[in-house]
Amino acid sequence: MSKDPVCEMMVDEKRAAATAVYQGVTYYFCAVGCKRAFEQSPEKYISKQ
Ligand SMILES: [Zn+2]
Repeated sequence: MSKDPVCEMMVDEKRAAATAVYQGVTYYFCAVGCKRAFEQSPEKYISKQ
């Protein structure tokens, strides 16, 4: 399981609705909307962790 950096929900990698690679790290998202939000300002979500 990985944490969706946008909504902080735990996401099963095999069932993730969307993924994104940023600075060599793969992030998993519960929904495409979360991925879009992440891509618009990835630093905002990464710095939260
Ligand atoms: Zn999410």
